[in-house]
Amino acid sequence: MTVLVVAEHRRGELRDASLELLTAGRQLADATGGELHVAVVSGDVESYADQLNREGVDAIHTVADGEEFNHDVYTQAVEQLFEAVEPTVLLLPNSVNGLDYAPAVAERLDIPLVTDAVDFDYGDGLTVTREMYGSKVETTMDVDAPQAAVTVRPAEWPKAEGTGDATVEAFDAAIDESAVRSTVTGYQEVGGGDIDISDADVLVSVGRGIEEEDNLDIIHDLAEALDATVSASRPIVDNGWLPKDRQVGQSGKVVTPDVYIAIGISGAVQHVAGMKGADTIVAINNDPNAPIFDIADYGIQDDLFDVVPALTEQFS
Ligand SMILES: Cc1cc2nc3c(=O)[nH]c(=O)nc-3n(C[C@H](O)[C@H](O)[C@H](O)COP(=O)(O)OP(=O)(O)OC[C@H]3O[C@@H](n4cnc5c(N)ncnc54)[C@H](O)[C@@H]3O)c2cc1C
Repeated sequence: MTVLVVAEHRRGELRDASLELLTAGRQLADATGGELHVAVVSGDVESYADQLNREGVDAIHTVADGEEFNHDVYTQAVEQLFEAVEPTVLLLPNSVNGLDYAPAVAERLDIPLVTDAVDFDYGDGLTVTREMYGSKVETTMDVDAPQAAVTVRPAEWPKAEGTGDATVEAFDAAIDESAVRSTVTGYQEVGGGDIDISDADVLVSVGRGIEEEDNLDIIHDLAEALDATVSASRPIVDNGWLPKDRQVGQSGKVVTPDVYIAIGISGAVQHVAGMKGADTIVAINNDPNAPIFDIADYGIQDDLFDVVPALTEQFS
């Protein structure tokens, strides 16, 4: 069987989710000894194709049409690529962009769409694992169809590595301009800032243990000493102490930094859903039974008001 992955890029840069999709796609293709094809639509497709040419990729299809990111162009291009490649499974990122065009593509192709996959397998057919009830249970779905589309949650698979020897071909998508009803007029960061916590290498993340807004100063001091970005659990954002674009978790952002320092954060499932993909997790909490210690690589069981200034002094 063939797996077709659609890569994602933003503001001229290939997103990590694209390389994770390659790993997920290779896993699925391996289950049946099949091929992994990758498509990239719009922008500097040649440069993206170079970066996507990783170990295990068999073919890369470039579609030079459209601006980055245009719903109608993506929908038409992916539909036509699907018809040309005839994959058993179409894998798309479970991102704002992916979720924008995935339902339209599935509807036009009349194939089932399963969103937010955290795992899958291919035996007698495709089975997809998703999380439900705020990540409290996992459910495995059998997909009863010969072809299907699946959106893949970021940070569930490692990024594909190595250099591949995929064929790279320009795909001549016949874009019907009269059906392109949207124009991309620009890009605006949510919250108006330039900081995207999902791109940060080091996150200093603060939770309700900080008690008061004024106490956030010690968190900002530590972040400055570490050249890190500040993020937060939901109560901090609900209190209005930090903007919504700093929230990590199920209803916030999924982050995959090298280091995630959770300060005064209990580790509720809705929070963990957003940060469990971090390479190294450091937890500072005065409660030895806090669930965050179950997933932490390093734990400091102590009062954050003592530990954080001491760390800042050490790193300054
Ligand atoms: C539908 C839904 C979606 C949600 N989405 C999100 C989401 O996206 N992100 C998110 O974060 N939450 C989310 N939540 C909320 C989530 O369930 C938790 O309520 C929240 O994560 C708890 O935040 P917290 O860990 O900062 O606070 P708490 O659970 O109150 O934990 C505070 C921690 O600080 C520790 N502490 C207190 N004082 C100190 C001290 N002096 N020194 C050291 N440690 C101290 C305590 O021991 C405790 O472990 C969601 C909930 C629902 C129902």
